[in-house]
Amino acid sequence: MRTPSWNYRTIIEPFKIKVVEPIRMTTREERQVILRQAHYNMFNIKANDILIDLLTDSGTAAMSSEQWAAMMRGDNAYAGSKSFYRFEEEVKGLTGYAHIIPTHQGRAAEKILFSIVGGKGKVVPNNTHFDTTRANVEFSGAEAVDLVIPEGKQPQAKHPFKGNMDVKRLERLLGESKPGQVPLCMLTVTNNSGGGQPVSMENIRETSALCRRFGVPFFLDACRFAENAYFIKLREPGYEEKTPAEIAREMFRHSDGCTMSAKKDGLVNMGGFLGLNDEQLTQQARNVLILTEGFPTYGGLAGRDLEAIAQGLREVLDEDYLKYRLRSVEYLAEHLIRIGYPLIEPPGGHAVYIDARTLLSHLPANQFPAQSLCSALYEYGGIRTVEVGNAMFGRTENGEEIPADMDLVRLAVPRRAYTQSHIDYVIEVAEMVYQDRQTLKGFRVVKQTPILRHFTIELEHVESRLAGKKGD
Ligand SMILES: *Cc1c(COP(=O)(O)O)cnc(C)c1O
Repeated sequence: MRTPSWNYRTIIEPFKIKVVEPIRMTTREERQVILRQAHYNMFNIKANDILIDLLTDSGTAAMSSEQWAAMMRGDNAYAGSKSFYRFEEEVKGLTGYAHIIPTHQGRAAEKILFSIVGGKGKVVPNNTHFDTTRANVEFSGAEAVDLVIPEGKQPQAKHPFKGNMDVKRLERLLGESKPGQVPLCMLTVTNNSGGGQPVSMENIRETSALCRRFGVPFFLDACRFAENAYFIKLREPGYEEKTPAEIAREMFRHSDGCTMSAKKDGLVNMGGFLGLNDEQLTQQARNVLILTEGFPTYGGLAGRDLEAIAQGLREVLDEDYLKYRLRSVEYLAEHLIRIGYPLIEPPGGHAVYIDARTLLSHLPANQFPAQSLCSALYEYGGIRTVEVGNAMFGRTENGEEIPADMDLVRLAVPRRAYTQSHIDYVIEVAEMVYQDRQTLKGFRVVKQTPILRHFTIELEHVESRLAGKKGD
């Protein structure tokens, strides 16, 4: 029995630090200037001006000494590289798929898949499409349909698996579709756009069986498969004694293929793959791959990248790592709740989402409350977060703002990059911001683009324009 590390109250980072990357300290006054120059858009702030970067968990993991060592073995042969075979063996062992196609990141796998199976008139169901997945489905001309269970859309609804597919609605959709109209069904584990919420094994099994009954291939969007596997171990009866690796293998065995961004649970900074069982689809995918990514034994990656992914996929299933990982996010959420922050509950695997519209109820939705909270977290403590709300999903029609359903601020935790004291600092800053919440100001748009405006949007404080007008 291996019990010790489970019985202590303090869960330590299950690693020590060999290489460090200094953080440049800044003052609040400096950050006020930086914010103004960035037009209050977090994407415009330089990384060197950030203390704690919680913008994303994608490609921001710290690699292990074993990964760096593996990279030195990287074989960059154009065809038949040794690194490819090591990568392929590791991914096949994990997923069980017959064919593994390396890509430079997740969306490249999506692009290849949907350029083959998508097209006008086709319908692709998913629990919730991630934005690049939806974009690739729609770019092909197909329709992307989200069918998460109703609890998955209610921020405060307590459910252990809020990422689950609504199987009843999926059954209806498959029953009403014409033969061949649904080229495949996807399930995103964990459900990123739904708050990083997990999907149960029971739901994976049911979705898989339903797809089989209708002759529709079943695919996983597997970016956070390891975090999902550990949620199953913690929350689903019958899985308590299984290892995360066993659970992950079972998840993959229910599916016919997957798209994967290794920038998440691959524990690397770049990479991905497409996993397939179908022979004919694989041939077609390799043809597109050669056009857009590279030869099938490197697919847009250097040999060293393939080595790092192979090693990362093994490390990410380590139980001590996953326990620390999910606990770090939960710890941050617990403290934010204690302070008074309204969150999406329970927290997901990779991020905490604050309901900024509820928190800053003195600001109307068209004044970007989530952007206001992002700005405050940066000004008070140099913490970068991301708005998932009005700037991202709101629309303008006839010059009028149509607010998004929710205004959330996401605090995504990079893998193995920050320690508990960093998280404690985030909590301290969040407490200061909370105390001043009624003084936070709203924003108005100065400049924006018609699509994906959140990346480049420029904002100003609602008051500042009034002040400017008075001075005119
Ligand atoms: C990140 C992500 C993708 C896209 O992967 P990239 O590597 O960023 O291209 C697709 N689906 C989900 C669920 C993701 O989180």
